[in-house]
Amino acid sequence: MTDLNSLAASIVDGSVQVIDLTSPLHSGTPVLALPPEFGQTAVFELEEISRYDDRGPAWYWNNVHTGEHTGTHVDAPIHWVTGQDKDDVSQIPAQRLVGPAIIIDKTAEVAANPDYCLTLEDVKAWEAENGPIPPHSWFLFRTGWSKYGDDPVAFANADENGPHTPGVTPEAAKYLSESEILGWGVETVGTDAGGAMVFDPPFPCHNMFMGANKCGVTQLRNLDKLPITGAVVVVAPLPIVKGSGSPCRVLALVQK
Ligand code: MN
Repeated sequence: MTDLNSLAASIVDGSVQVIDLTSPLHSGTPVLALPPEFGQTAVFELEEISRYDDRGPAWYWNNVHTGEHTGTHVDAPIHWVTGQDKDDVSQIPAQRLVGPAIIIDKTAEVAANPDYCLTLEDVKAWEAENGPIPPHSWFLFRTGWSKYGDDPVAFANADENGPHTPGVTPEAAKYLSESEILGWGVETVGTDAGGAMVFDPPFPCHNMFMGANKCGVTQLRNLDKLPITGAVVVVAPLPIVKGSGSPCRVLALVQK
């Protein structure tokens, strides 16, 4: 039996489970709100074409309206100015969309401080415990933030000073961007902290990961159902030609 046949059999018998890490996509799905002087992304909307009626008696279908960066989505390297000569979302090699998943868990720290940012020391401590970050892996930031995913106000957690959501320090972003990971996945609306506009550089995750031709993945759910190491993740954005990103389905294979 080949490895792939064995995997298929394990999916059929349930000893390998498929966990959906994707947030449901609907008109209430939270989206990023930038300061008002900037352009804004669209919320997701369905426009009904027909529903077993005069417009189409036996079929139901819709047009969809969405931003590229609406709901669970991929940030392609070209999304950021530092990656402007790098891959658009259609150019990301399929081989770089599938890989082992590793989890760094800061749920407790984020519960105590929503502005918590992953430090270089946190990453080094993870490596001391779990070994070097494996190449070609998706590094996923478990924060517990997805519990707010159905409440746009709580999800944004903004006050007069802007949003308060977890992220990554510039030092940790630099270290991870120089590693061989495929990209960085988060539970929040964007890969950077809510307060990252005033970091040096601003939005360090975007700045460094996109510049290194790596991807970001946002608004993940069910990271609490994944082991720290050992899962395999499939990230599936639409191949939008010249697209800066795409809503995506993210699935994890987990050994029961
Ligand atoms: Mn994005």
